[in-house]
Amino acid sequence: MKHIMACLLAAGVMALSASDPHEYRDYQDAKASVETTYRLNHERQTVALVTEKCQQFGQLNRGHYGIWQVLEMLNKMVDESDPDTDLSQLMHALQAAEAIRKDGHPRWFILTGLIHDCGKMLSLYGEPQWAVVGDTFPVGCAFSDAIIYPTLFAENPDSSNPAYQTKNGIYQKHCGLDNLLMSWGHDEYLYQVVKNYLPQEANFIIRYHSFYPLHKQGAYSQFMNERDEQLLEWVKLFNTYDLYSKCPEAPDVEKLKPYYQELIAEFFPDTIAW
Ligand code: FE
Ligand code: FE
Repeated sequence: MKHIMACLLAAGVMALSASDPHEYRDYQDAKASVETTYRLNHERQTVALVTEKCQQFGQLNRGHYGIWQVLEMLNKMVDESDPDTDLSQLMHALQAAEAIRKDGHPRWFILTGLIHDCGKMLSLYGEPQWAVVGDTFPVGCAFSDAIIYPTLFAENPDSSNPAYQTKNGIYQKHCGLDNLLMSWGHDEYLYQVVKNYLPQEANFIIRYHSFYPLHKQGAYSQFMNERDEQLLEWVKLFNTYDLYSKCPEAPDVEKLKPYYQELIAEFFPDTIAW
């Protein structure tokens, strides 16, 4: 049923609405790899780990690649934290972008749909899925019950550090999301790669699109400043396309390629540092 709905959406037959009843993100019947990925994620995402990964990958010294080239490289990758699709990342990228395009949104937003998961390049460098995919949350303050599988944080070493377990932890109220250390994964990595090429709305979507505890449940909103409040609306809108465009029918890559290559060239040079 959910896939029929999604395909109708992708075909532009139905209008997107945040109130559509849906069966996405159904973790009850999720494949075993979903829980395994989250178990490792929740046990290992700590202040120390995040600091180390930001330092390690923030240097962008993994090579120079074009955006389309990366999308093709990701064609082999399936996200093991995602209960909704078994299609490759290139298919997901095109489905999200096409759904945004069909609704007549600005070109930067269509491009954001296309590239939002390109940070999953991390897994092509050999990074394990728990450090690449899944919902994100801040470290350095109390883990919220709004995070998926919250009980799995019991084994996280930061859970027994009192400095990291108050509501605000190491942060000030209204410090702004950009001042949080977010759990490490594809959102933060791609933000570091593309931040100098895109409008701030696109950068914000890319950086926080997996921050479900905030954009779905309002957790951690005490850290938001005025700018975050405004930009969060874009993340919420984007999320409808990220989720509801998933369907088992693969888009025609060769047919769509010229349009998207032109769109990429509007914002990016031939290659960028990864
Ligand atoms: Fe993502
Ligand atoms: Fe996505």
